[in-house]
Amino acid sequence: MAKYHFDMITIGAGSGGVASSRRAGSYGARVAICEDWRVGGTCVMRGCVPKKFLVYAAEFADDFADAAGYGWHVPAPRFDWAKLIANKNKELDRLEGIYRNLLKNANVTLFEGRATIVDPHTIEVLGKRHTTANIMVATGARPILPSIPGIEHAITSNEALDLSAMPKQVVIAGGGYIACEFAGIFKGVGADVTIVIRGDKVLRGFDEDIRTTLTEEMTARGINIVSHTQIGAIKKARDAFRVVLGKGDDLMADKVLYAIGRAPYTKNIGLEEAGAKLKPNGAIMVDSWSRSSVPSIYAIGDVTDRLNLTPVAIAEGRAVAETLFNDNPIEMDHANVPSAVFSIPSVGTVGLTEHDARKQFGALDIYRARFRPMKNTLSGRGERTMMKLVVDRKTDRVLGCHMVGPDAPELIQGLAVAIKCGATKRQFDQTVGIHPTAGEEFVTMRDKVPEPKAEAAE
Ligand code: NDP
Repeated sequence: MAKYHFDMITIGAGSGGVASSRRAGSYGARVAICEDWRVGGTCVMRGCVPKKFLVYAAEFADDFADAAGYGWHVPAPRFDWAKLIANKNKELDRLEGIYRNLLKNANVTLFEGRATIVDPHTIEVLGKRHTTANIMVATGARPILPSIPGIEHAITSNEALDLSAMPKQVVIAGGGYIACEFAGIFKGVGADVTIVIRGDKVLRGFDEDIRTTLTEEMTARGINIVSHTQIGAIKKARDAFRVVLGKGDDLMADKVLYAIGRAPYTKNIGLEEAGAKLKPNGAIMVDSWSRSSVPSIYAIGDVTDRLNLTPVAIAEGRAVAETLFNDNPIEMDHANVPSAVFSIPSVGTVGLTEHDARKQFGALDIYRARFRPMKNTLSGRGERTMMKLVVDRKTDRVLGCHMVGPDAPELIQGLAVAIKCGATKRQFDQTVGIHPTAGEEFVTMRDKVPEPKAEAAE
């Protein structure tokens, strides 16, 4: 008779939890997964997937506008928000069905309820206790809302993906991934959009050339970026809201979207009671094997606040399953993980920013191209693409690739393989381009950007 009811119980059926449980189940482990919302979690149900459908919808605006230069007569297009949301929801239902089947086919037991940790080997869910050799916490993160007057009027990305009517005037707090993506969505479908940021540019932490380019191109598209200020209060004003800024004029909005980061979701799960150490922001502290300070409790994905990206959570979860149930120890490697912002224009990046590379490697060669993509010539669109390579001067290794422009995420995914393999600039140069594409620019960059003055490189 087995010592425990299960070999692993996972809390949270998002991308990481499902991937880990399925992989464990495929090796014959007795696995259960607990979920008190929809199977699929943030990425599939209220994040990456629905967001991308909305981005696709918004991008059609450019296609209609650009078509004229290519000889098309397009009647004034009409947009139906309700239809988009209904179609998106239908697709999410289909995906949830697929996720449920994937769990079933891997023999993973699904408990549809909120789970709590009773002790390092016991979970309580739906009023019953189940013992387990290992606990996997994959509860993700939730949007942060500040305590300012009127914050109850604000929405987060959760609600923004399900609005019953299209907003006309949107104010967005924050300048990170979510703010930039929703700014593109709402602007694309025809709303007035203002972003309120504390600094001078969007996307803090990204390469400066990405930040500058995206800030400029979003502005050129008519997105109002109000910098160096914060929202002090949101006041109801008839059927709209008055957004009071710390500095500058008030803004009017029918929707105020907060996208100022997400906090690990660890409250009232029983983690601290079981002895798991948390970081000050609530994230579960784990080692490179995703093991918490309690040997039988593992944690993956956003709840650990390492690299908060879906494919990272999946890789972390699979690594744990391989280690525990397939005698194949895998330590997660967080180096050179590519990421993208599905803003319009989009951003793709892998490796080090110029700033971080200078700090770590010293002398660098920087290559940068700015050009008008070919498609924008006949259409008359002024938008420019930016591509950049950060190269270690000593070894010639390419340390970072950065891009703002159409299809940047698709392009950077391929380049991420080269970066992961440690490709040198010479190897980039030896690679023959595909003509005519934007991507060929990455293998034909010859001229180095002049050395920055010492203080500018800081
Ligand atoms: P981010 O961490 O990306 O950005 C937060 C933004 O909010 C920053 O611009 C920051 O600006 C600003 N901010 C932070 N605190 C405050 C405050 N108190 N008042 C005003 N502004 C503030 O968070 P998001 O919410 O956009 O996204 C959360 C996470 O979700 C991301 O980190 C990412 O990991 C993930 N995500 C990934 C996506 C993708 O891969 N495409 C898409 C969407 C989300 P400042 O510069 O001033 O600090």
